[in-house]
Amino acid sequence: MADTNLMPIAGQIDPVPTARDITPREDGRVDLIGLPPTRIRELFEEAGLDTRQAKLRSKQVYHWLYHRGVSEFEDMTDISKTMRPWLTERFVIGRPHVVEAQHSTDGTRKWLLQTDDGHDYEMVFIPDADRGTLCVSSQVGCTLNCTFCHTGTMRLVRNLTPGEIVGQVMLARDALGEWPKGKMDFAEDEDEAEYRADSRLLTNIVMMGMGEPLYNFDNVRDALLLVMDSAGLALSKRRITLSTSGVIPMMERCGAEIGVNLAVSLHAVNKDVRDEIVPLNRKYGLEELLQACADYPGATNARRITFEYVMLKDKNDSDEDAHELVRLLKQFNLPAKVNLIPFNPWPGANYECSDPDRIRSFSNIVFEGGISAPVRTPRGRDIDAACGQLKTAAEKKSRAQMDREAAAAAEAEAASE
Ligand code: SAH
Ligand code: SF4
Repeated sequence: MADTNLMPIAGQIDPVPTARDITPREDGRVDLIGLPPTRIRELFEEAGLDTRQAKLRSKQVYHWLYHRGVSEFEDMTDISKTMRPWLTERFVIGRPHVVEAQHSTDGTRKWLLQTDDGHDYEMVFIPDADRGTLCVSSQVGCTLNCTFCHTGTMRLVRNLTPGEIVGQVMLARDALGEWPKGKMDFAEDEDEAEYRADSRLLTNIVMMGMGEPLYNFDNVRDALLLVMDSAGLALSKRRITLSTSGVIPMMERCGAEIGVNLAVSLHAVNKDVRDEIVPLNRKYGLEELLQACADYPGATNARRITFEYVMLKDKNDSDEDAHELVRLLKQFNLPAKVNLIPFNPWPGANYECSDPDRIRSFSNIVFEGGISAPVRTPRGRDIDAACGQLKTAAEKKSRAQMDREAAAAAEAEAASE
């Protein structure tokens, strides 16, 4: 294996640390969203409940938070009336702040969200006949600079916290009206039939929004563990897919510690082209990436790895490329399917989407090679919600500009003293 560790790549690629666990709030209260059940219990004990009470109350609260989706302690009807203000004084149930909600003509919905410290990020819901997929962001911006991706033109502002990640799923359930009603809801008109666990709109989650999830591994893992917890949101790991541009060192842990389906943004079949369009390739090369896929825990023919392949005109879309793709996937004996993504344009992009005939020919070759290769229908293009179109106001700034801004801020601070 070539030692590529020391090779420079464009952009800053190191994970950026964020405050873990509890983000301090001005009012001193603690946001419970994003915390695992054991941590909630600990916090209740620290706030003065005895062990038995803390255990019982945390279990009840957890159920209300993640299974029933309530956002006020007052609505937790099996918790005593005196206990509810005690909770409200000390804790909050956070949701991402919605700046704007947009609806595409094809039914796709996009939400512009904001963190408490004022950073914008996005999530997208894509309804289909047989499923509804929520596309979740893991970072504000991205450190990687894939040349065809709009998010890649942003600078990385910061990693999202577990609460901000799982909060997207909770917000989507709020918006879709999908929290179950059930035994713990003491409304007079309660009807058990309204417990609609099997006919939900939101059935699948893809970590394919803004950011590289494997550069925010711990927070993404903690959030997804909450999403998968059968006592809470209870989404099956088979319905969750994490997409990576190829952060090899984290792939094994992703399989072992999260266990969701893996999608890999391959996009090219030779070093030169992949180095250019997915610059991370200069650090983690193609062959090593495919080997890491072959080693991915849980990859079987029943749970194949998805290889995403963006169709860029005259860049990566020839018949030879398609044949080479088949050869590579076979060489590594990969249980694979290929997802061909027509390039979604954005202002200032230097690429064009391949012609429909070209895409068809490419797809046929891969298919004849024995690998399924559907073409992903672009969704929500009219509201810039399609793959690679997500971008919020944080511009990618040059190092020099960031230095200038830091110097100006320091001067302003000095002047105000
Ligand atoms: N950072 C992760 C996940 C987010 S991107 C990754 O790169 O895998 C989700 C998918 O959209 C990736 O396969 C990405 O390469 C693709 N994509 C990015 N920009 C695109 C564009 N303009 N048109 C089509 N697909 C794009
Ligand atoms: Fe980041 Fe993925 Fe876009 Fe590449 S394609 S810049 S890794 S979000």
